[in-house]
Amino acid sequence: MKMSKLFVQTLREFPSDAEVVSHKMLGRAGFIKKLAPGVYTYMPLMWRVLKKVENIVREEMDRAGAQELLMPFVQPKELWEESGRWEVYGRELMRLKDRHDRDMCLGPTHEEIITSVARDNLKSYKQLPVNLYQIQSKFRDEIRPRYGLLRGREFIMKDAYSFDIDEAGLDKEYENMAQAYKRIFERCGLETKMVQSDSGAIGGSVSHEFMVITDTDAGENDVFYCTECDYSANSNHAVSILPEAVVDGKDYFSKKEILDTPSTHSIEELSAFLKIPSTLILKSLVYIVDKKPVIALIRADKAVEETKLMNAAGGIEIRIASAAEIEELMQQKGFTAEPGFIGPNGMDGIKIIADETVYDMKNFVVGINQTDKHLVGANLEDVLPKDVIKADIRLVEQGELCPICKRPLSVTKGIEVGNIFKLGTKYSKPMNAVYTDVNGKTHPYVMGCYGIGISRTAAAAVEAHHDEHGIKWPLAIAPYHVVIVPVNIQDEAQMNVANALYEVLKNAGVEVVLDDRDERAGVKFKDADLIGFPFRITVGKTISEGLVECKIRETDELVKMTPDEVKQNIIDAVLSIQ
Ligand code: ATP
Ligand code: MG
Repeated sequence: MKMSKLFVQTLREFPSDAEVVSHKMLGRAGFIKKLAPGVYTYMPLMWRVLKKVENIVREEMDRAGAQELLMPFVQPKELWEESGRWEVYGRELMRLKDRHDRDMCLGPTHEEIITSVARDNLKSYKQLPVNLYQIQSKFRDEIRPRYGLLRGREFIMKDAYSFDIDEAGLDKEYENMAQAYKRIFERCGLETKMVQSDSGAIGGSVSHEFMVITDTDAGENDVFYCTECDYSANSNHAVSILPEAVVDGKDYFSKKEILDTPSTHSIEELSAFLKIPSTLILKSLVYIVDKKPVIALIRADKAVEETKLMNAAGGIEIRIASAAEIEELMQQKGFTAEPGFIGPNGMDGIKIIADETVYDMKNFVVGINQTDKHLVGANLEDVLPKDVIKADIRLVEQGELCPICKRPLSVTKGIEVGNIFKLGTKYSKPMNAVYTDVNGKTHPYVMGCYGIGISRTAAAAVEAHHDEHGIKWPLAIAPYHVVIVPVNIQDEAQMNVANALYEVLKNAGVEVVLDDRDERAGVKFKDADLIGFPFRITVGKTISEGLVECKIRETDELVKMTPDEVKQNIIDAVLSIQ
């Protein structure tokens, strides 16, 4: 490919709405073009990268025994009603009507469709196990599309679904997929951590995420991990040994009484006013889960993890209640308290979930739904209703102890590039997707599902491999392997060497761009760094000594060598990734 012909426009500036490195660089280097929030055109350079990621995924899925198919992107409501998800999926599901007024949706994921495909075709235990996958655009009307390809609304995903006769079969396939995922991300030049995670709206019991660990802002997940053993988990799933309340030995409130606590809206204000550690305060927080209020109780030195709370409440959507919603709840229960003075007493009919930290508390302080007042010297029997739900809803903190080996946990940011779920019979049961066993009895298939964000993986590679000048594509997923830059295209000798190298590399199967533009060398070097070609061959004055210069983008190393050496080294490098 000649640079003069390549359909790419690099920009002087980063896109104005770009917050993270991959969005900035992919926009400026002409890889993506925004059409609408979270919706992008993949320009030719990007498409080459995406196809390479897809091919690695395809090769490894095929090697692991899965078979590729392609399901429709537009899906009818009826199947989503069978699984029960039409009602509960929420607004990420993009719903539309066809000309006959039939409800449809754009596929955000394909459990319903694949389960219907399976039940029509997999009738006997003799046909199982099967693992089917596709690579396709998905649409999710994300509440906050951002970070370019990392969180788009339309994005490319590989989704695979396995069907087994029993749990043991699923366990085996789950492990098989975990191994395939390790190979996939390794081949893409990405270091990943496989961490335990919450199973979310897709459901099931066991799941893991593959995280690219990053110190950039793009890491939307907090990953807790142990440096002593291999425990690691997304914060929405992480657990630690219950931290003991540090109380300084003083006996604060041996008598139960109601005290005036004027203007103590926050935990800090309340503990300063009463001169007590926050571990003596029972914090009551109001959330809205699936449109209904839920009260979360936790020891006040700890924070609530919303996904854990949502799961404990059995919901699929959660947010903290607004001041107006709290006021409404108070009115409904006959109270007038402002936020900061809420408590569990008198909240009959409202779901109350108490964190494990609450159960060790004694003679503590708690809100009683009266502004400027708290009950002190309270104990559990005074405040917890009979139908309280006890659950771990606590956000783990760095330094708390590992649940396996009791060493302090560390925390880091991660980008989730893939995940694997054990679904069990979550879809096969309600959708009556069954096989017949050797005795003629029917059973629902035991299913797993396995996703990889193809476009997110490509963007994560930019987060992991770049410097201030641009992208440093890993060789296996780079849009082209090499750019050849003649310093002066008017110089016939330079052009002869450049053209000869171009032909020879191209013929050897190397993907090469010849920068034949009549631009200053500095401009061409800048573009080469920005676009992130793994190798840059500069053909300049040193050809009189029979040498050209090779720049290795990953390390920015410059090496002078003969065109023959360039040829051999690059061909070897390219062959080694295949
Ligand atoms: P997240 O927690 O980041 O929203 P998810 O749990 O919704 O991800 P899945 O439904 O399991 O993700 O989708 C499988 C894979 O698809 C994810 O691991 C991720 O790599 C990718 N993915 C999910 N949502 C997006 C998105 N909005 N943009 C780009 N890739 C995405
Ligand atoms: Mg999501």
